[in-house]
Amino acid sequence: MKTLKRFVLVGAPASGKGTQSSFLSESYDLKPLSTGALLRAEVAAGSPLGLEAKKYMDAAMFVPDEVVNGIVSQWLGNNKDCGCLLDGYPRTVAQAQTLDENLAKLGLGVDIVVFLNVSQELIEARMLRRKACPVCGETTRNGEEVCPKCGAGMIVRSDDNPEAFAKRRKDYESLTLPVVEHYRAQGKVVQIDVTEEGEPEAVSARIAAAVAAYVG
Ligand code: ADP
Repeated sequence: MKTLKRFVLVGAPASGKGTQSSFLSESYDLKPLSTGALLRAEVAAGSPLGLEAKKYMDAAMFVPDEVVNGIVSQWLGNNKDCGCLLDGYPRTVAQAQTLDENLAKLGLGVDIVVFLNVSQELIEARMLRRKACPVCGETTRNGEEVCPKCGAGMIVRSDDNPEAFAKRRKDYESLTLPVVEHYRAQGKVVQIDVTEEGEPEAVSARIAAAVAAYVG
């Protein structure tokens, strides 16, 4: 039976990755690192790193590998002994190679990659239903016309506009899907195919079953 300490979660934008990241970290007692959330916090704090990252994030581009690799390797060095979940990293094969090298230096490695493979049709349908309130910031998933919190008219989220979303999707397919193949070659990928809309808990249950089967 394998011991799983270092998880990587891969999924397209709007795949429900955030929800499943919470599920995984709670179920397997993992400390999560979301590079997207960490970068947004740096942007909000106005740090030099945040100012650099913002240029790329505003343009829906990946932040350069050196910048992200630096943050993650520091975090991993500080968290050698805990179980951890990397969410949103590695996003390119170059990041995956750096991660493997940095972990190897610590005598560690990636133990499992959970690949949330949601069909393109489902993601497009979700995007159309995802709305944000321009007044209070509430977000909803069912195409609401009126904000359930403050009654203002709902709009489509600014980062869900079709152009930005299409760019994020294209980068995911050309740059991030090869990361899955990198780890598939190492026999570390557990793939969850989602083709029909359902409850997030049902996907979590499938992930738990697939992880249990992987552990043996
Ligand atoms: P999404 O998966 O919806 O694009 P994230 O919160 O994961 O959202 O990331 C938001 C932004 O942060 C990305 O569009 C990118 O600019 C930047 N980012 C996050 N993680 C990485 C990474 N590993 N490499 C490069 N850029 C990243």
